[in-house]
Order: sequence, then structure tokens, then C-alpha cells
Amino acid sequence: MALPKPISIVGSTGSIGESTLRVVDRYPGRLRVVALAAGRNTARLAEQVRRYHPDVVAIAAPSGVTELQARLGGMGVEILAGSDGVEAVAAWPSADTTVIAVVGFAGVFPTLAAIRAGKSIALANKETLVAAGAVVMPLAKEHGVTIAPIDSEHSAIWQCLRAGRRSEVKRLILTASGGPFRTRPLSIFGDITPADALAHPTWSMGPRITVDSATMMNKGFEIIEAARLFDIEPARVEVVIHPQSIVHSLVEFCDGSVVAQMGLPDMTLPITYALLGPERVEASPDVQGFDPVACGPLEFGAPEPERYPALGLARHAYEMGATGGTVLNAADEIAVEAFLEGRLPFTGITPLVEAVLDEHHVVFDPGIDDIVAADRWARHRAAELMQGPGSSRLVS
Ligand code: MG
Repeated sequence: MALPKPISIVGSTGSIGESTLRVVDRYPGRLRVVALAAGRNTARLAEQVRRYHPDVVAIAAPSGVTELQARLGGMGVEILAGSDGVEAVAAWPSADTTVIAVVGFAGVFPTLAAIRAGKSIALANKETLVAAGAVVMPLAKEHGVTIAPIDSEHSAIWQCLRAGRRSEVKRLILTASGGPFRTRPLSIFGDITPADALAHPTWSMGPRITVDSATMMNKGFEIIEAARLFDIEPARVEVVIHPQSIVHSLVEFCDGSVVAQMGLPDMTLPITYALLGPERVEASPDVQGFDPVACGPLEFGAPEPERYPALGLARHAYEMGATGGTVLNAADEIAVEAFLEGRLPFTGITPLVEAVLDEHHVVFDPGIDDIVAADRWARHRAAELMQGPGSSRLVS
């Protein structure tokens, strides 16, 4: 019997971090936590340390370190703080695999640190591929590091790809729930409130990704993620609406055969596959069994471009070149934040992102500094455009 695989979790108190720890609970003989990092939730992080006994723990907010020391006094765990501390956790020497479960652009830096340290990556952070894929993927290749996707669609594709050779793949088909406005008349899209957009039909997630699911910008990001991760041109990555979220994605092979991966929506399953796959481990009794009859009819539909303009915009951003994805992500984050705060209508989100992209001068073959600069510029420009004289075009 092999020893449990030592893992580091960056973003341990968030939704994916907590789900990862549930997976560790299910497979105590297979997985062991050696390092944890969180943003600012010191109380929850301290509970996790008491339960999992890592060698090291880091809190991103430097103000949290005193409180963490007080909570963990005498436990013999090394306590680090700030972004350096988080990167040290990501690259922790005794870890075999680093789970990147942080939300946001800040997740790019621990990913880079983990890759440079030669860790296998289990990746839930979208920005790593959407904003910084042009830097991250070549670095992973250089260090011989595997990036295992935790995103359910990409996990599905990764599993389906095992059914054939890469040269035999015709296209990837990502499924999308269609979000809460799949059947809403377009004429009343202007009335959409943050509360409407936050009511996702099938997945429970953070506010930004939930709004991104409603615009389908999230699916646009996933086209870019797939293109980066599986090294395939976006024209061969298609999107189909599948409201039941049972088929997580599909791969069509050159012989016309299509392989799909299915299951109930449960993030612990892609996390388990990212950490322990490609071996299939026994499902724990608390995983709800799959009953195809109970799933009812499965529907598939084409996404209407007028309803989901973000999809086409994301393809365009990728085709612009490396920093196109960076700007797409950054401008969208500012737009979604403004929408949630009532400063921008729902129908203004994609036009604002498009306006910022239109002004962007792409950096081809960028370094991480170029990515950071493009990210900063896009955030600043998005905020400016909402206030500037041309803003009526965005908010009408
Ligand atoms: Mg997804």
C-alpha cells in the first residue's frame, strides 16, 4: 500500500478548498494535508489546522497573522503571512500536489510558484489559464508539470480524452447550464437585478462566477481554458446548452464517435479525479448514486448569440493573442462588481468588456510582468469607461 499523497491547498477556506478537504476525509489512506493557505478567514483556517495538522499554514492578509498565532499557539505549526507565505505553501517541499483553489487573479502567483517547484497542479483557479495561460502553460511544460483541471467541464474532457489519441480528436463540446436567463425574453434583460442573476439553477458557487454563468462569460473563459489546457484551437471547442448539468462535457473523435462524461453535479468528483486519477477510486457512501431514470430527459440546445454575446467575445479575445484573455478577465471582474453594486445594468457587462478589449494593445509572447500590466490597465480602463463621457453607450 502506497503512502498517502501529500498535498498543499491554497485557498483552503473557500468553496473548492472545503470540498477538497471533504475528499481528504473520504480517502485518509490516500491523501494527507501538509500545507494550507487562506485569504483572511483565520477562524476557519485555525479549525482546519487543528483537524489536519499540516506542517505549515499561511494567511494572505498580513493583519491576520497575530490572530492566527493566538489561535494556534503551541501547536508546532509554522505560520506564514502575506503573498510570500502563500507562495511558500504552494511550493512546500514535502507536498507532491498543490491544489490551487483561490479565486481571482491573485491565484496566478501561487500557481507559478508551485510549477517552478515542480509540483503537480490540481487547478480550480480560472485566471491561471484565462489571464495568464500564455505564461503558465509554457512554464508547466518546461518543468514537466501536469495541470489537472478541477473545473467540472475540463475534468470531463480530460476523462473523455482517454478514449482515443490526441490526433484522433475532432472537437471538444463544453456543456453549459444556460444560467437563470435561458428562457427569459430578451426584451426584459434590462430589468435583471443582482438577486435574479445570483439564483443559479444547478450549481452553488461564489457571486462572480454565478453572474459569469448568467452572461455565459464563464463559458467563454472555459473555451479559453480548454484551448490552453488541451492545446487545441478555440474553433474546435464548441458550447452546447444543457440545462440539467448531467453531461459535464463531450469529445468527438474522428470516426464520428462521441464520448461524454456524466454524473450528478458534485464538485468533489472532479477534485477526486484531479488528485487521485486516472485511477478510479471507490466512491464513498456519501456520494449520491447516479440514476439515469431519475435524471429525467436530458436536453441540448444551441446558445443564441444575442442572449450570450460574451461567448463570441471570449473567442475574439483569445484570437487577439496572449494578453487578450488577461484583459477579458480583468474588465469582466470590474463589470460584474459594478453590476452587483447596482452601478451597471446586466446588459452593460459584456459591452463594457468589449469596449476595453477594443482599446487593448496586445502583447504577444508576454512575460508575467506584461500580464500583470495588462490586468491593471484593463481594470483601470473599465472603471474609467463607466464614468467617462462615452459611458451612456454602456449603460443604456
Ligand atoms: Mg465550469
